[in-house]
Amino acid sequence: MPILRGKPVSSGIVSAHSHIYNNQVQILENDIQLAPASIEKELNRLQNAVKKSRAQLKKIYKTVEKKMGSSSALIIGIQRQLLEDPSLIREITEKITQEQLHCETAIRFVERKYIDIFSKIPDLTFQERKNDLSDILQRVSANLISRPHQGNKNESATILVAQDLHPSKAAQVMSSGLISGLILEEGGENSHTSILARTMGIPTIISVPNALTTISEGDFLFIDALLGIIHVNPSKEEIFKLAEKKEKYTAYKSRLKEIIPLPSQTLDGKDFSLLGNIELEFETTMAQNHGAEGIGLFRTEFLFMEGDTAHHIQKQALTYKNVAQSFYPKPVVIRTFDVGRDKTVPQVEHEQGINPALGAMAVRIFLKKPTLLKKQIKAVIQANESGNISLLFPMITTIEEIFSLKAMVSECFDQVKKERSHPPKRPPFGIMVEVPAAIKLIPFLKNHVDFFSVGSNDLTQYLLAVDRNNSEVSALYTPFHPALVEALFEIVALCHKIDKPVTVCGEMAGKSVSALMLLGMGYRRFSMNPLALMEIKRIFTHVHASYAAHVVRQIRRLPSASMIEEYLIEQFLKKYPDLFIKQPFF
Ligand code: PEP
Ligand code: MG
Repeated sequence: MPILRGKPVSSGIVSAHSHIYNNQVQILENDIQLAPASIEKELNRLQNAVKKSRAQLKKIYKTVEKKMGSSSALIIGIQRQLLEDPSLIREITEKITQEQLHCETAIRFVERKYIDIFSKIPDLTFQERKNDLSDILQRVSANLISRPHQGNKNESATILVAQDLHPSKAAQVMSSGLISGLILEEGGENSHTSILARTMGIPTIISVPNALTTISEGDFLFIDALLGIIHVNPSKEEIFKLAEKKEKYTAYKSRLKEIIPLPSQTLDGKDFSLLGNIELEFETTMAQNHGAEGIGLFRTEFLFMEGDTAHHIQKQALTYKNVAQSFYPKPVVIRTFDVGRDKTVPQVEHEQGINPALGAMAVRIFLKKPTLLKKQIKAVIQANESGNISLLFPMITTIEEIFSLKAMVSECFDQVKKERSHPPKRPPFGIMVEVPAAIKLIPFLKNHVDFFSVGSNDLTQYLLAVDRNNSEVSALYTPFHPALVEALFEIVALCHKIDKPVTVCGEMAGKSVSALMLLGMGYRRFSMNPLALMEIKRIFTHVHASYAAHVVRQIRRLPSASMIEEYLIEQFLKKYPDLFIKQPFF
């Protein structure tokens, strides 16, 4: 039986028959010019197909909104807007009338033109727009030949196999309940499709080479989206083994859920808080379902993916308010736009410079051009009616930045106050500790900063001089380097000394061994990918904080990351032998 491998982006194990989704709409390979008398007919075909597509998108929008919330429906909303854009249809119409082309050919030309333009722009937003545009034009093409946009006619849930899946199609099939798994030859971890799959809990594996040439329609598939393995038509013995693993995984997941209502306390009674990191509003539900005790990091720069939300005070305020109210009275920490470096967005113009990771980014941009940041701060203040929102500023390097940002918050606060009949609530002011230099500012910040959040992803990158996104140097990128260990010890001690709360919100907070190391150092607030919450809670509730502290004290004597990591694992297993091996499926 063939085995395929790829990158799991939404975990789970599932088996079902395959359904091949061929999103290559057949286009008449007929570039023969139209007779002038046929042009009118061709324009009518176009008009009807556009009308039909608009009606379909409206219906999909309603279904998605009902099942997945208004934020997810925005993805379809963007496509509706694109299809309403008169210039797009005008371009196709002109191709038909001036060049006497068939509709299909005209659409193909316009699609190619925009794909070429968008492909040359390297940022995420344009890649998504490219997909959206292709998606709607393919829908219009499909409607021209009076064929429904391809869908699964099979009533039972299948595993969808495709080269890539456009967001509107993904939202449509995922909300229909007709797919139980997804395999893509291409795809991106942060694409709308992967984000939707995680939210809907649909096991998904992307970057699977040759999926479409290996898998045929109706093949029986067993996909392991924990390891990223696809078994095609497995033998009876294999099915038996895989079904056993699936059963154990399902049982493990439901057992793990039992941990949610239990107190967040170590075996020796030390309290801890586990919060969720989110990028878009709809992830709120997922964070709640996984037991988040609040949102420790809302990466708002992802709002730039949702149409024009990031430019509108009211739209932003509504998003923040929705998240805050769903968690009330638990805290919701809204981090201001952390754009620049690897997260450039066309809406925020700035000079990248030859070394973007050390150049203009986040608050460095907005302190010079404050319009967007002021809008965001006002939106946060307006949204804070429930009083559980805090404001967090990323990439802080100097105390002057803090003073300027505080002045900006006060100015925005006064403006909101003037505009409203009832006084707004001032959100607490926090900073990210992710530029190593910021650690040395902590002793001076008692009267200026309400809370701290350790961005260990960037702190590791800047302290070790290792690009967090470069696989060439990924072996050097580790949370156990002695320099990082000392920095983390120093941060928690300094925050305790000035009596301020501190959270760790980088990836290390959601990984078992590094999270235990942080617990041993004295950290008590952790914010992570919501999917990691239950596992970290299981681990923390099965150890003594005093033992973790004892073990962690010893690592300060060790000179290398591998020694530190090995020592931690060895010492924790010595006292709690099944601490890391509770997961039966790895
Ligand atoms: C971090 O740097 O650790 C962090 C949480 O922020 P981001 O990953 O968004 O840079
Ligand atoms: Mg960061």
